[in-house]
Amino acid sequence: MFIGIIIIVLWLFQVFFLENFYVAIKSGTVKKAANKINEIIREEDYQEKINKIAEKNEFCVVVYSDTGSLLTSQTGDPRCQITRQTYQHNATIIRSLKKTAIRSGKASKLIEEDTLKQRIPPALLHNVMKDYPMTTPSKKSNESMTYISVVKGQDAQLITILINAQLTPVSATVETIQTQFIMIAAILIVIAILLALLLSKRIASPIMSINASAKQLAKGDYDVRFIGDGYTEIKELTDTLNYAARELGKVEGLRRELIANMSHDIRTPLTMIGGFSEVMRDIPGENTPENLQIIIDETRRLRDLVNDMLDLSKLQAGEQRVHCIDVNITKEIETIVHRYDRLRNEKQYRIDFTYTKEVFVHADRIKLDQVIYNLMNNAINYSKEDRHIRIEQTIEEKLVKISIVDHGPGIAKEELPYIWDRYYMVDKTHVRSIVGSGLGLSIVKKILELHHAGYGVKSEANKGSTFWFSLPYTHLK
Ligand code: ADP
Repeated sequence: MFIGIIIIVLWLFQVFFLENFYVAIKSGTVKKAANKINEIIREEDYQEKINKIAEKNEFCVVVYSDTGSLLTSQTGDPRCQITRQTYQHNATIIRSLKKTAIRSGKASKLIEEDTLKQRIPPALLHNVMKDYPMTTPSKKSNESMTYISVVKGQDAQLITILINAQLTPVSATVETIQTQFIMIAAILIVIAILLALLLSKRIASPIMSINASAKQLAKGDYDVRFIGDGYTEIKELTDTLNYAARELGKVEGLRRELIANMSHDIRTPLTMIGGFSEVMRDIPGENTPENLQIIIDETRRLRDLVNDMLDLSKLQAGEQRVHCIDVNITKEIETIVHRYDRLRNEKQYRIDFTYTKEVFVHADRIKLDQVIYNLMNNAINYSKEDRHIRIEQTIEEKLVKISIVDHGPGIAKEELPYIWDRYYMVDKTHVRSIVGSGLGLSIVKKILELHHAGYGVKSEANKGSTFWFSLPYTHLK
């Protein structure tokens, strides 16, 4: 299209309107020269100056006095068309120009004469045209143009200036240009085709391939790979789309894992509850408080699991708001640690809580408890052998920092960024059926984010982990 437009514009300018342009430009220069001559005509050395102008532009200039006598001889172009007859021939025009010049000082007119017609008398012209139809002067067969200008000279004399400019026959030029034009058009078309092929190879086909892959992705094929060579932008787009496909694939993987995990998590306690209930119903001696306790524990686990799921989905939907009050965080931790007394006595766990002062923070008490619980539970659950958990409360400038330290298996460096994700569990088989829903840390993260608290974890495989969070305190006691 673009090349087509260029060809049309070229054709219009170079071929179709060439003659018009040429004549317009030529008449422009003639008019300019006439104006200049009008200015200098009153000067002493006007003859010399007129000669210069005529030579420079290849014009022929003749100046007549008021009475019609020659003031300058023909100068400039030797192919001059101005004769005595020209003056007489245009006498009416000159007369009317003179009338205007008397009033306004100067007057001029451009005559694009058909010189062939002019030279051959009408009667003869008729014959010529009959005998030699080919010589019929076309509308555009002007050979020269004459510009008549009348100006008031010295002593209010009216001076007539005739400027004659030869018009080079445009038809020959047009022919040359036309041939050239055809060649240019052919070259441009070839270039256009090559360009179109190149663009389609570099842009269109990669986009089509990306489109096809995107459709596959939409159908749920996450293994699809986007391939697109060519421009950097397209490569970047394919990289981004590949990344998006990988991430979507991961989400899909997590979703499947979640369903598997949840069914497993729910099935295990249900099997226990069902099994123990049946045993207690069928075998009278088995109706013991221990067996009942198992049923109660399993029910509690189920309830905790469902609660975790509900909590997280509420937190993630942004439904849960924090109701902040002044909370004595030190007391809260102490109370929670006391709840683990049974565990400490029965299973010889050591839970140390160290602090210097009681600290008050502005927080949602229930949610803050949830955070501490979750972190402590994790520390207890994942440090089975060591059984020593340390909770440290430190004060740093305006913040209180709570660290929960265990000496369990720790978390490998590459796993660290993911543990805060939903349903992420480092060792998926080991403690799976005993503890955790894989939701704890994401609940912790959400709650801490709601409080605009800082949080993090320092952990090294086989050395233990330190989970911490920090909040601005309101006052100390
Ligand atoms: P879970 O309910 O499985 O504990 P969490 O979201 O609380 O889920 O924790 C995510 C994962 O991070 C856990 O499965 C575990 O692999 C790892 N993790 C959390 N706390 C600890 C810890 N104190 N020591 C070692 N690993 C931990």
